[in-house]
Amino acid sequence: MDWLLTNARLVDRTELVDIAIADGRIARIRSTSSVQVGPAIPGPAIQRWELGGRVVLPGLVEPHVHLDKTYLNSSGSFPNHSGTLLEAIDVWLAVKQQRSAADVQNAVRRALRAAIANGVTAVRSHVDTEEPSDLQTLAAILEVREEFRHAIDLQIVALGFAGTSPVIDRAMADALALGADLVGGAPALTPDPATSLDAIFALAERTGKPIDLHSDETEDPASRTLLALAEMTIAAGMQGLVTAGHCCSLAFMDDASAGRVIERVAAARLHIVTLPSCNLVLMGRGRQPAPRGVTRVKELLAAGVNVCAGSDNVQDPFNPFGSYDPLQTANFTAHTAHLTGTDELRACLEMVTTRAARALGLDSYGLRAGAAADLLVLDAFDPQEAVTAPPPRLATFKNGRLIVRTQTEREWI
Ligand SMILES: [Zn+2]
Repeated sequence: MDWLLTNARLVDRTELVDIAIADGRIARIRSTSSVQVGPAIPGPAIQRWELGGRVVLPGLVEPHVHLDKTYLNSSGSFPNHSGTLLEAIDVWLAVKQQRSAADVQNAVRRALRAAIANGVTAVRSHVDTEEPSDLQTLAAILEVREEFRHAIDLQIVALGFAGTSPVIDRAMADALALGADLVGGAPALTPDPATSLDAIFALAERTGKPIDLHSDETEDPASRTLLALAEMTIAAGMQGLVTAGHCCSLAFMDDASAGRVIERVAAARLHIVTLPSCNLVLMGRGRQPAPRGVTRVKELLAAGVNVCAGSDNVQDPFNPFGSYDPLQTANFTAHTAHLTGTDELRACLEMVTTRAARALGLDSYGLRAGAAADLLVLDAFDPQEAVTAPPPRLATFKNGRLIVRTQTEREWI
Protein backbone atom coordinates (compact mmCIF):
# COMPACT_ATOMS: atom_id res chain seq x y z
CA MET A 1 0.00 0.00 0.00
CA ASP A 2 1.38 3.41 -0.98
CA TRP A 3 0.59 6.49 1.04
CA LEU A 4 0.01 10.20 0.66
CA LEU A 5 0.30 12.11 3.92
CA THR A 6 -1.19 15.56 3.40
CA ASN A 7 -0.62 18.80 5.33
CA ALA A 8 2.31 17.49 7.34
CA ARG A 9 4.56 19.82 9.33
CA LEU A 10 8.33 19.20 9.21
CA VAL A 11 10.99 20.45 11.61
CA ASP A 12 13.00 22.36 9.00
CA ARG A 13 10.25 23.89 6.83
CA THR A 14 7.77 26.64 7.57
CA GLU A 15 5.13 25.60 5.03
CA LEU A 16 3.07 22.43 5.30
CA VAL A 17 3.96 19.59 2.94
CA ASP A 18 2.51 16.51 1.32
CA ILE A 19 4.63 13.37 1.66
CA ALA A 20 4.22 10.72 -1.03
CA ILE A 21 5.35 7.20 -0.17
CA ALA A 22 5.80 4.52 -2.82
CA ASP A 23 7.58 1.16 -2.86
CA GLY A 24 8.88 1.61 0.68
CA ARG A 25 10.55 4.95 -0.03
CA ILE A 26 9.67 8.61 0.17
CA ALA A 27 8.73 9.35 -3.45
CA ARG A 28 8.59 13.09 -2.91
CA ILE A 29 7.90 15.89 -0.48
CA ARG A 30 6.37 19.10 -1.73
CA SER A 31 4.65 22.06 -0.21
CA THR A 32 0.91 21.65 0.12
CA SER A 33 0.30 24.93 -1.68
CA SER A 34 2.38 24.00 -4.73
CA VAL A 35 0.57 23.46 -8.01
CA GLN A 36 -0.29 19.78 -8.39
CA VAL A 37 0.11 18.43 -11.88
CA GLY A 38 -1.10 14.93 -12.57
CA PRO A 39 -1.73 12.29 -9.92
CA ALA A 40 -0.16 12.86 -6.53
CA ILE A 41 1.82 9.66 -6.85
CA PRO A 42 1.66 6.88 -9.37
CA GLY A 43 0.25 3.49 -8.45
CA PRO A 44 -3.16 1.93 -8.12
CA ALA A 45 -3.70 1.79 -4.37
CA ILE A 46 -3.03 5.02 -2.51
CA GLN A 47 -4.06 5.56 1.07
CA ARG A 48 -4.52 9.21 1.99
CA TRP A 49 -4.11 10.59 5.48
CA GLU A 50 -4.93 14.22 6.17
CA LEU A 51 -2.66 15.30 9.03
CA GLY A 52 -4.06 18.79 9.46
CA GLY A 53 -0.69 20.35 10.25
CA ARG A 54 0.59 17.66 12.61
CA VAL A 55 4.33 17.08 12.92
CA VAL A 56 6.06 14.28 11.02
CA LEU A 57 9.57 13.23 12.10
CA PRO A 58 12.00 10.78 10.54
CA GLY A 59 11.92 7.48 12.47
CA LEU A 60 13.45 7.81 15.92
CA VAL A 61 16.78 6.04 16.40
CA GLU A 62 17.67 4.48 19.76
CA PRO A 63 21.47 4.12 19.81
CA HIS A 64 22.07 2.36 23.15
CA VAL A 65 19.93 -0.11 25.11
CA HIS A 66 20.38 -3.49 26.85
CA LEU A 67 17.64 -5.81 25.62
CA ASP A 68 19.05 -8.86 27.45
CA LYS A 69 18.50 -7.16 30.82
CA THR A 70 15.32 -5.22 30.16
CA TYR A 71 12.25 -5.40 32.42
CA LEU A 72 14.14 -7.61 34.89
CA ASN A 73 13.09 -5.21 37.63
CA SER A 74 9.71 -4.21 36.22
CA SER A 75 7.88 -5.74 39.18
CA GLY A 76 10.53 -4.70 41.69
CA SER A 77 11.89 -8.25 41.77
CA PHE A 78 15.59 -7.45 41.64
CA PRO A 79 16.17 -4.00 43.10
CA ASN A 80 19.53 -2.29 43.46
CA HIS A 81 19.51 -1.04 47.06
CA SER A 82 22.56 1.23 46.92
CA GLY A 83 21.70 2.46 43.44
CA THR A 84 25.34 2.19 42.35
CA LEU A 85 26.74 0.73 39.15
CA LEU A 86 28.75 -1.87 41.07
CA GLU A 87 25.71 -3.23 42.94
CA ALA A 88 23.74 -3.23 39.69
CA ILE A 89 26.41 -5.43 38.09
CA ASP A 90 26.39 -7.77 41.15
CA VAL A 91 22.59 -8.12 41.08
CA TRP A 92 22.60 -8.73 37.35
CA LEU A 93 25.31 -11.42 37.50
CA ALA A 94 23.44 -13.19 40.31
CA VAL A 95 20.15 -13.37 38.39
CA LYS A 96 21.03 -13.55 34.70
CA GLN A 97 21.28 -17.34 34.73
CA GLN A 98 17.70 -17.58 36.01
CA ARG A 99 16.31 -16.11 32.79
CA SER A 100 15.21 -18.67 30.24
CA ALA A 101 15.45 -18.01 26.52
CA ALA A 102 11.65 -17.65 26.46
CA ASP A 103 11.81 -15.06 29.28
CA VAL A 104 14.36 -13.07 27.33
CA GLN A 105 12.39 -13.27 24.09
CA ASN A 106 9.18 -12.11 25.75
CA ALA A 107 10.97 -9.16 27.34
CA VAL A 108 12.63 -8.24 24.04
CA ARG A 109 9.30 -8.42 22.17
CA ARG A 110 7.72 -6.15 24.78
CA ALA A 111 10.62 -3.71 24.50
CA LEU A 112 10.58 -3.59 20.71
CA ARG A 113 6.80 -3.08 20.65
CA ALA A 114 7.14 -0.21 23.12
CA ALA A 115 9.91 1.34 21.04
CA ILE A 116 8.03 0.99 17.75
CA ALA A 117 4.87 2.49 19.24
CA ASN A 118 7.03 5.43 20.37
CA GLY A 119 8.21 5.92 16.79
CA VAL A 120 11.52 4.04 16.86
CA THR A 121 12.53 2.49 13.53
CA ALA A 122 16.14 1.52 14.40
CA VAL A 123 17.74 0.42 17.65
CA ARG A 124 21.20 -0.68 18.77
CA SER A 125 21.40 -3.00 21.76
CA HIS A 126 24.37 -4.23 23.72
CA VAL A 127 24.13 -7.90 24.74
CA ASP A 128 26.39 -9.49 27.37
CA THR A 129 28.99 -11.75 25.78
CA GLU A 130 31.16 -13.25 28.47
CA GLU A 131 30.34 -16.93 28.77
CA PRO A 132 28.84 -19.72 26.64
CA SER A 133 25.36 -19.28 28.18
CA ASP A 134 25.34 -15.67 26.93
CA LEU A 135 25.46 -17.03 23.40
CA GLN A 136 22.16 -18.82 23.99
CA THR A 137 20.65 -15.50 25.07
CA LEU A 138 22.10 -13.85 21.99
CA ALA A 139 20.66 -16.58 19.75
CA ALA A 140 17.23 -16.05 21.35
CA ILE A 141 17.43 -12.29 20.68
CA LEU A 142 18.53 -12.89 17.09
CA GLU A 143 15.36 -14.97 16.58
CA VAL A 144 13.25 -12.04 17.75
CA ARG A 145 15.23 -9.76 15.44
CA GLU A 146 13.99 -11.86 12.51
CA GLU A 147 10.40 -11.70 13.79
CA PHE A 148 10.57 -7.90 13.85
CA ARG A 149 12.67 -7.36 10.73
CA HIS A 150 9.74 -5.77 8.85
CA ALA A 151 9.16 -3.26 11.65
CA ILE A 152 12.50 -2.20 13.11
CA ASP A 153 16.24 -2.45 12.42
CA LEU A 154 18.09 -4.04 15.33
CA GLN A 155 21.88 -3.87 15.64
CA ILE A 156 23.60 -5.98 18.29
CA VAL A 157 26.83 -5.11 20.10
CA ALA A 158 28.79 -8.01 21.66
CA LEU A 159 29.49 -6.63 25.15
CA GLY A 160 32.30 -8.40 26.98
CA PHE A 161 35.45 -7.60 28.90
CA ALA A 162 37.72 -8.42 25.98
CA GLY A 163 41.34 -9.18 26.85
CA THR A 164 40.61 -10.31 30.40
CA SER A 165 40.21 -14.04 29.76
CA PRO A 166 40.38 -16.50 26.84
CA VAL A 167 36.79 -17.60 27.63
CA ILE A 168 35.46 -14.07 27.08
CA ASP A 169 37.56 -13.53 23.97
CA ARG A 170 36.18 -16.78 22.52
CA ALA A 171 32.61 -15.83 23.46
CA MET A 172 32.96 -12.46 21.73
CA ALA A 173 34.37 -13.99 18.56
CA ASP A 174 31.57 -16.59 18.57
CA ALA A 175 28.93 -13.87 19.10
CA LEU A 176 30.18 -11.92 16.09
CA ALA A 177 30.11 -15.10 14.00
CA LEU A 178 26.59 -15.83 15.22
CA GLY A 179 25.18 -12.47 14.12
CA ALA A 180 26.31 -9.66 16.42
CA ASP A 181 27.15 -6.56 14.39
CA LEU A 182 29.67 -4.66 16.51
CA VAL A 183 32.51 -5.23 18.96
CA GLY A 184 31.63 -3.90 22.42
CA GLY A 185 33.25 -3.64 25.82
CA ALA A 186 33.80 -1.54 28.90
CA PRO A 187 37.58 -1.21 29.17
CA ALA A 188 37.51 1.32 32.02
CA LEU A 189 35.87 -1.35 34.21
CA THR A 190 38.67 -3.88 33.60
CA PRO A 191 41.91 -4.06 35.63
CA ASP A 192 43.97 -3.09 32.58
CA PRO A 193 42.04 -0.86 30.13
CA ALA A 194 44.93 -0.70 27.63
CA THR A 195 45.03 -4.49 27.26
CA SER A 196 41.26 -4.61 26.83
CA LEU A 197 41.37 -1.90 24.14
CA ASP A 198 44.09 -3.83 22.31
CA ALA A 199 41.92 -6.96 22.31
CA ILE A 200 38.86 -4.98 21.13
CA PHE A 201 40.69 -3.42 18.18
CA ALA A 202 42.30 -6.75 17.26
CA LEU A 203 38.86 -8.38 17.17
CA ALA A 204 37.45 -5.51 15.10
CA GLU A 205 40.28 -5.79 12.64
CA ARG A 206 39.91 -9.58 12.38
CA THR A 207 36.14 -9.43 11.80
CA GLY A 208 35.82 -6.12 9.97
CA LYS A 209 33.18 -4.96 12.48
CA PRO A 210 32.80 -1.46 13.92
CA ILE A 211 33.21 -0.73 17.65
CA ASP A 212 30.79 0.58 20.31
CA LEU A 213 32.14 0.82 23.86
CA HIS A 214 30.97 1.77 27.32
CA SER A 215 33.65 4.35 27.99
CA ASP A 216 34.67 5.84 31.34
CA GLU A 217 31.38 5.21 33.13
CA THR A 218 33.04 6.48 36.28
CA GLU A 219 33.41 9.57 38.44
CA ASP A 220 37.21 9.23 38.37
CA PRO A 221 38.63 12.35 36.67
CA ALA A 222 41.82 10.41 35.88
CA SER A 223 39.97 7.85 33.76
CA ARG A 224 41.24 8.47 30.22
CA THR A 225 39.97 5.47 28.25
CA LEU A 226 38.16 7.83 25.90
CA LEU A 227 41.44 9.52 24.98
CA ALA A 228 43.11 6.16 24.35
CA LEU A 229 40.09 5.10 22.29
CA ALA A 230 40.39 8.22 20.14
CA GLU A 231 44.11 7.70 19.54
CA MET A 232 43.66 4.01 18.69
CA THR A 233 40.78 4.83 16.34
CA ILE A 234 43.02 7.23 14.41
CA ALA A 235 45.90 4.76 14.39
CA ALA A 236 43.62 2.00 13.06
CA GLY A 237 42.11 4.28 10.41
CA MET A 238 38.63 3.64 11.86
CA GLN A 239 37.46 7.27 11.99
CA GLY A 240 33.66 7.37 11.91
CA LEU A 241 33.34 3.68 12.78
CA VAL A 242 33.71 3.89 16.55
CA THR A 243 31.09 4.88 19.14
CA ALA A 244 31.62 5.63 22.82
CA GLY A 245 28.78 5.71 25.35
CA HIS A 246 28.65 7.44 28.75
CA CYS A 247 32.05 9.23 28.87
CA CYS A 248 31.15 10.37 32.39
CA SER A 249 34.70 11.01 33.58
CA LEU A 250 34.90 13.87 31.09
CA ALA A 251 32.48 15.76 33.32
CA PHE A 252 34.62 15.23 36.42
CA MET A 253 37.98 16.41 35.04
CA ASP A 254 39.13 20.04 34.80
CA ASP A 255 38.24 22.14 31.76
CA ALA A 256 41.71 22.10 30.21
CA SER A 257 42.06 18.31 30.44
CA ALA A 258 38.54 17.80 29.09
CA GLY A 259 39.29 20.15 26.21
CA ARG A 260 42.34 18.12 25.20
CA VAL A 261 40.33 14.88 25.23
CA ILE A 262 37.46 16.43 23.24
CA GLU A 263 39.88 17.72 20.62
CA ARG A 264 41.13 14.15 20.01
CA VAL A 265 37.57 12.75 20.08
CA ALA A 266 36.68 15.18 17.29
CA ALA A 267 39.81 14.25 15.31
CA ALA A 268 38.90 10.56 15.60
CA ARG A 269 35.32 11.30 14.53
CA LEU A 270 34.01 9.24 17.45
CA HIS A 271 30.24 9.12 17.89
CA ILE A 272 29.43 9.94 21.52
CA VAL A 273 26.24 8.63 23.14
CA THR A 274 25.05 10.42 26.26
CA LEU A 275 22.78 8.36 28.50
CA PRO A 276 21.25 10.85 30.92
CA SER A 277 18.62 8.68 32.61
CA CYS A 278 21.06 5.99 33.70
CA ASN A 279 23.79 8.49 34.61
CA LEU A 280 21.40 10.44 36.84
CA VAL A 281 20.48 7.19 38.60
CA LEU A 282 23.92 5.59 38.99
CA MET A 283 26.46 8.41 39.17
CA GLY A 284 27.27 10.58 42.18
CA ARG A 285 25.66 8.39 44.84
CA GLY A 286 26.39 9.67 48.34
CA ARG A 287 27.90 12.96 47.17
CA GLN A 288 26.64 16.46 47.92
CA PRO A 289 25.96 18.44 45.92
CA ALA A 290 25.10 15.43 43.78
CA PRO A 291 26.75 15.66 40.35
CA ARG A 292 24.68 14.85 37.29
CA GLY A 293 27.32 12.48 35.93
CA VAL A 294 26.37 13.35 32.37
CA THR A 295 29.19 13.93 29.89
CA ARG A 296 30.08 17.39 28.49
CA VAL A 297 27.43 17.47 25.77
CA LYS A 298 27.71 21.21 25.11
CA GLU A 299 31.47 21.21 24.67
CA LEU A 300 31.36 18.11 22.47
CA LEU A 301 28.74 19.72 20.22
CA ALA A 302 30.79 22.91 20.01
CA ALA A 303 33.79 20.86 18.89
CA GLY A 304 31.75 19.36 16.05
CA VAL A 305 31.44 15.89 17.58
CA ASN A 306 28.47 13.75 16.56
CA VAL A 307 26.64 13.49 19.91
CA CYS A 308 23.64 11.14 20.23
CA ALA A 309 21.39 10.28 23.16
CA GLY A 310 20.11 6.91 24.34
CA SER A 311 18.02 5.19 27.00
CA ASP A 312 20.63 2.70 28.27
CA ASN A 313 19.05 0.31 30.78
CA VAL A 314 15.26 0.17 31.05
CA GLN A 315 13.52 -1.18 34.15
CA ASP A 316 16.33 -3.44 35.32
CA PRO A 317 18.78 -3.50 38.27
CA PHE A 318 20.78 -0.66 36.69
CA ASN A 319 17.85 1.68 36.19
CA PRO A 320 14.24 1.32 37.39
CA PHE A 321 13.06 3.90 34.85
CA GLY A 322 12.52 3.98 31.11
CA SER A 323 9.98 3.32 28.38
CA TYR A 324 12.01 3.11 25.14
CA ASP A 325 11.04 6.67 24.28
CA PRO A 326 13.83 8.62 22.54
CA LEU A 327 11.83 11.84 22.81
CA GLN A 328 11.87 11.49 26.58
CA THR A 329 15.64 10.91 26.30
CA ALA A 330 15.95 14.08 24.21
CA ASN A 331 14.00 15.90 26.92
CA PHE A 332 16.33 14.55 29.65
CA THR A 333 19.35 15.53 27.59
CA ALA A 334 18.06 19.08 27.21
CA HIS A 335 17.50 19.28 30.98
CA THR A 336 20.76 17.73 32.13
CA ALA A 337 23.07 19.38 29.58
CA HIS A 338 21.45 22.83 29.91
CA LEU A 339 20.40 22.88 26.25
CA THR A 340 17.45 25.26 26.26
CA GLY A 341 17.96 27.63 23.30
CA THR A 342 16.02 27.05 20.09
CA ASP A 343 19.04 25.64 18.23
CA GLU A 344 20.05 23.60 21.27
CA LEU A 345 16.60 22.02 21.52
CA ARG A 346 16.83 21.21 17.81
CA ALA A 347 20.21 19.54 18.48
CA CYS A 348 18.59 17.37 21.16
CA LEU A 349 16.03 16.17 18.62
CA GLU A 350 18.85 15.43 16.17
CA MET A 351 20.53 13.31 18.87
CA VAL A 352 17.66 10.80 18.63
CA THR A 353 17.12 11.17 14.87
CA THR A 354 19.75 12.24 12.31
CA ARG A 355 22.78 12.18 14.61
CA ALA A 356 21.91 8.75 16.01
CA ALA A 357 21.26 7.52 12.46
CA ARG A 358 24.78 8.62 11.51
CA ALA A 359 26.23 6.67 14.45
CA LEU A 360 24.32 3.57 13.35
CA GLY A 361 25.45 4.03 9.75
CA LEU A 362 21.90 4.23 8.36
CA ASP A 363 22.59 5.43 4.81
CA SER A 364 19.02 5.66 3.51
CA TYR A 365 17.76 7.64 6.51
CA GLY A 366 15.94 10.97 6.56
CA LEU A 367 12.85 12.88 5.51
CA ARG A 368 13.90 13.38 1.90
CA ALA A 369 12.94 12.03 -1.49
CA GLY A 370 14.59 8.69 -2.10
CA ALA A 371 15.12 7.82 1.56
CA ALA A 372 13.53 4.80 3.23
CA ALA A 373 10.02 5.77 4.36
CA ASP A 374 10.74 5.39 8.08
CA LEU A 375 8.75 8.08 9.87
CA LEU A 376 6.32 8.86 12.64
CA VAL A 377 3.38 11.16 13.16
CA LEU A 378 3.09 13.22 16.35
CA ASP A 379 -0.17 14.44 17.82
CA ALA A 380 1.35 17.92 17.97
CA PHE A 381 1.56 21.03 15.79
CA ASP A 382 4.79 22.59 17.11
CA PRO A 383 7.99 20.65 16.27
CA GLN A 384 9.76 22.03 19.35
CA GLU A 385 7.30 20.17 21.58
CA ALA A 386 8.91 16.92 20.39
CA VAL A 387 11.63 17.79 22.92
CA THR A 388 10.02 20.22 25.36
CA ALA A 389 6.80 18.25 25.95
CA PRO A 390 6.98 14.87 24.18
CA PRO A 391 3.53 14.36 22.65
CA PRO A 392 1.62 11.15 21.86
CA ARG A 393 2.74 9.26 18.77
CA LEU A 394 -0.09 8.58 16.31
CA ALA A 395 1.66 6.25 13.86
CA THR A 396 4.96 4.64 12.92
CA PHE A 397 5.86 3.73 9.34
CA LYS A 398 8.74 1.39 8.49
CA ASN A 399 9.85 1.10 4.87
CA GLY A 400 6.54 2.67 3.85
CA ARG A 401 4.40 0.22 5.82
CA LEU A 402 2.13 1.43 8.57
CA ILE A 403 3.30 -0.67 11.52
CA VAL A 404 1.30 0.79 14.39
CA ARG A 405 -1.38 3.41 14.69
CA THR A 406 -2.50 4.81 18.03
CA GLN A 407 -5.92 6.33 18.63
CA THR A 408 -6.21 9.07 21.19
CA GLU A 409 -9.58 10.04 22.58
CA ARG A 410 -10.43 12.46 25.36
CA GLU A 411 -13.84 13.42 26.62
CA TRP A 412 -14.29 16.75 28.44
CA ILE A 413 -17.19 16.63 30.89
ZN1 LIG B 1 24.90 0.63 28.49
